Parts: sequence; C-alpha cells; structure tokens
Amino acid sequence: MSKSYKEIMNQITTFIFDVDGVLTDGSVHVTQSGEMLRVMNIRDGFAMKAAVESGYNVCVISGGSSEGVRIRLRNLGITDIHLACPDKVENFKEYIDIYNIFPEQVLYMGDDIPDFHVMKLVGLPTCPQDASPEIKEISQYISHKNGGRGAVRDVIEQVMRVQGKWDTYFNGKHD
Ligand SMILES: [Mg+2]
Repeated sequence: MSKSYKEIMNQITTFIFDVDGVLTDGSVHVTQSGEMLRVMNIRDGFAMKAAVESGYNVCVISGGSSEGVRIRLRNLGITDIHLACPDKVENFKEYIDIYNIFPEQVLYMGDDIPDFHVMKLVGLPTCPQDASPEIKEISQYISHKNGGRGAVRDVIEQVMRVQGKWDTYFNGKHD
C-alpha cells in the first residue's frame, strides 16, 4: 500500500521551493525600465524562517533571476538559493549530493512545467491550489492555498506539526 502524504511528511528533512507561482502568485509588475517586481507573503516567510531555525534544509531553485529575491530569502536565513536555473534537475541532484540528502526526505513545491521532472524525483511532490494541471496530476499533496497566498506556509506548517516541531518552535519563542 502506498503511503499517505501525512506519513511521508514524517520523513521530510528538506524543503525545496520554486519562486514564481509558489513563493509568489506568479505575477510580475514590469516597470518602465524592464525591472520585474514580485510580491511575497510574510506568513510564508515566517514559516521558512521557522523551518531554517528548527534545523530543516530549505532550498530555493528558480528559473528566474532577481537580486531582490535573493536578498529577501537570505534575510530569512536561507543560504541555498539557486536562481536562473535552466535545468532544475541538475541543481537538485547537486544540492542533495552536497548535503547527503536522500530524495525521499525532500518535499518539493512547484507550480508549472519547469518543475515537472524534478518533482518526479522527490519523496513528496506538492503544489499550490492554482498550479498547472500537469503539476497537480503528479503532486502527492495539493495545498488548498494558492501560490504566494500561503501554500508554502501550509506545507511547512503541516510537516513541522506532524514532526512535533511547530509547537516546539513557538514555545522557544516565548521562553
Ligand atoms: Mg513557477
């Protein structure tokens, strides 16, 4: 019998997120000078910071490139930020190799075709509610939240709760 997504959440040590459509709603504001401005969710950011501080590996792999995104993520404590990646599978393999992570320990959240192949390799492929149909089809868990609107928070919080680390993190914040 195949495992439920909740059972798989027990073995997750590592979160990998796409940027556009996952950490954002997929929109960009294009300025007169051609700069692309993205909107991110503060509650998603809080969860990523909580995951990092609780000892999880948190990695971001994006096809896009934006120094602003890099700075924002770095401020959350994320050190593995791969931008402008034409082939996410290559970055994924390199990343898990460096940290000795098994693919079964990885939760990946993506929303569109560039995430398809890497999502086939991980233990828990997930997506926001508004992901493309192809990605929803191969996701083992589909968040009820949209990209940039709490989908990242949803999966981090669920994994940390299953592993009893969400409350621990909170209680630590009140000591
Ligand atoms: Mg995307």
